[in-house]
This record gives sequence, C-alpha cells and structure tokens, in this order.
Amino acid sequence: MAELFYDDDADLSIIQGRKVAVIGYGSQGHAHALSLRDSGVDVRVGLHEGSKSKTVAEEQGLRVVPVAEAAAEADVIMILVPDPIQAKVYEESIKDNLKDGDALFFGHGLNIRFGFIKPPAGVDVCMVAPKGPGHLVRRQYEEGRGVPCIAAVEQDATGKGFELALSYAKGIGGTRAGVIKTTFTEETETDLFGEQAVLCGGTSALVKAGFETLVEAGYQPEIAYFECLHELKLIVDLMYEGGLEKMRWSVSETAEWGDYVSGPRIINEGTKAEMKKILGEIQDGTFANNWIAEYNAGLPKYNEYKKADEDHLLETTGKKLRKLMSWVDEEA
Ligand code: NDP
Ligand code: MG
Ligand code: MG
Repeated sequence: MAELFYDDDADLSIIQGRKVAVIGYGSQGHAHALSLRDSGVDVRVGLHEGSKSKTVAEEQGLRVVPVAEAAAEADVIMILVPDPIQAKVYEESIKDNLKDGDALFFGHGLNIRFGFIKPPAGVDVCMVAPKGPGHLVRRQYEEGRGVPCIAAVEQDATGKGFELALSYAKGIGGTRAGVIKTTFTEETETDLFGEQAVLCGGTSALVKAGFETLVEAGYQPEIAYFECLHELKLIVDLMYEGGLEKMRWSVSETAEWGDYVSGPRIINEGTKAEMKKILGEIQDGTFANNWIAEYNAGLPKYNEYKKADEDHLLETTGKKLRKLMSWVDEEA
C-alpha cells in the first residue's frame, strides 16, 4: 500500500527557512509561487525575456527576475516551465547557478527519468506534483483545503530530501489533502501511460470511433454527439463518485447488461496487447525521445493531427450544439 503523509507529518519551517525560485508562471507556477508566499516562504519567480506572465506575477505582488538570477539567489529551484523546454532552460540558466546543498524540484519527472537533465551529485532532486491543474491547486489552498500531491526524491544529496519535499507540499496545501510517496520512475511512466492509453488518447479515440460508426450508419450527427460525447460526463462523474458500481447502479439494467456483454468486445485482448506495447515504448524512452524530437523540429506532425481533429464532424457538431446549452461553460 502507498505511504500517505498529512499536515502533522510535515514541518513547514523547513521550506520557510529556504529561498525558493519558481521558474515559470503558468498553470502550476502561479499556484506554487502564490501559495508558498502566503505560507510565509521567501519566493521569487524566474521568467524569460519577453514573458507574457511577467506582468501577471508582478500584479499579484511577486518579485520577477531572469531565470539565472532566480536560480543563483535561491537554494530550492522548482522548474515549472513546459516539459519539452526544461532541458534547454536548465542548460542555459540553471546548471551553472547550482551549489552543493541546493535542491532542484520538479512537478513532473520526464526530464529526470529520461536523462534530458542530469543534475550534479551535490544537489537534492525532488518532485512535488499536485494531482490537479494549477488553478484548482490555488483555489483549494485559498479555501483552506488542498489538492493531493505525490512526492518523490530521485537524488538525496543532503539525506533530507523527502522532509524538504513534504515541507514544500505543505506550503502549497498538499498535505491538507494527503501526499503519496512515489518515485520519479513510477510518476513519469504512469502519468504518460494514463494520459495516452486512457484519459486523453484512449477516450478521444473511443468517442470519435463511436461517433463515426453512428454517422456512417446514417444517424444524425447531433444525436451521435449526445450519445458518444455529451453523456460521457455523466458516466465519468458517477465513476468518480463511486466507482464502476455507482455508475452501474445509476444506469438502466439494459445499459448495465450492454456494458457487460459489449464492453469487453471493444476493449479486448488486442487492445490490451497494444496498451502493453505503448507502456513498453514509454519505459524504454522511445516515446519521450520521439516527442522531444518532434518538439525540436517545430511540431510538424503535432500541428497536422491538431488540424485534422479541429475539422472533424464531431467537433464542428459539438461547437453548434454547445451554443444551445447555456449551462455548458466553454471556459470551465
Ligand atoms: P504552462 O505551460 O502552464 O506554463 C509555462 C510557464 O513557463 C509560463 O509562465 C511561461 O511563460 C513560462 N516559460 C516558457 N518558456 C520559458 C523560459 N524559457 N524560461 C522561463 N519561463 C518560461 O506549464 P504547466 O504549469 O502546465 O507545466 C509546468 C510543469 O508542471 C510541467 O512539468 C508539467 O508536466 C507539470 N504539471 C502540470 C500540471 C497541469 O495541470 N498543467 C499538473 C501537474 C504537473 P510565458 O507564457 O509568459 O511565456
Ligand atoms: Mg502528464
Ligand atoms: Mg442512452
């Protein structure tokens, strides 16, 4: 079973005694920087020349300095810029500003797990990753609650890396909800697999294939949209609240019977074999290397896939239908 840590297991004074640099001020960066500051931590934000987030951070009362300066001043450096550019930011502005005893922090393990960033032996390498988007992390903190986090130590130079990570997690409200101990390897591999096989990749492919099947059989796209995409939220909400059991309790017996007999024909042994292949390509670094190469080439395939789905009948139908449903908030 996983090891869980709460407020009483974490000592906030550890992080309050350090100088923290939060590099990046996007979804996660703003939540970490503001909540650490409100927890009495000495925080500066490191941003690049011409950053759009600079004014926002300054308006919210934070001191913004160039990344290299932030890294030089601080002894805890949390890297919250997009994953594909972290290695470049590290090489250019952080590496030469690390001293023995400093700590390098991450919100996701990709660059450490696949060796794109190789920190020197004298620094602690830690992760605090909230299991939710940054705006939720900040809102929960302000409301006196927190989003559960996972925490890990890849390199424990000081022997106190995990205490420091727990203290950091307390500073952003994570220990109010609970912190699970993990490793960089487990976090990175399961995060990539989850988003590819189930959450993003698996779900969007399932919805598209269901929608196409109905439309190709002559049913109206609007009806197909409701059946294959819109109602998914209801089902997922029920699963989130009470697992498969609550979902099956709530739907009709007919739907439940159909779930048992047809579900395993859609996600079958072949699908699972493919999932295992995908997991293998994540574990051996193939996925990460291909993704960084795609990013560095200027995202040619990424843009092609994005465009193709923007023009898909599922999406154009959805745009029209959501306008009729005033309660569906496009921005939420
Ligand atoms: P965002 O894309 O939301 O934010 C990126 C920030 O980095 C922006 O403030 C951007 O500034 C800044 N930035 C871009 N280039 C540079 C640079 N060269 N130097 C300094 N700053 C730069 O990132 P996320 O918050 O989504 O992701 C950050 C990390 O958190 C990633 O490791 C991600 O995997 C992890 N994570 C994200 C979650 C999420 O919910 N989004 C959840 C859990 C973990 P500007 O826009 O002004 O140019
Ligand atoms: Mg992810
Ligand atoms: Mg129905």
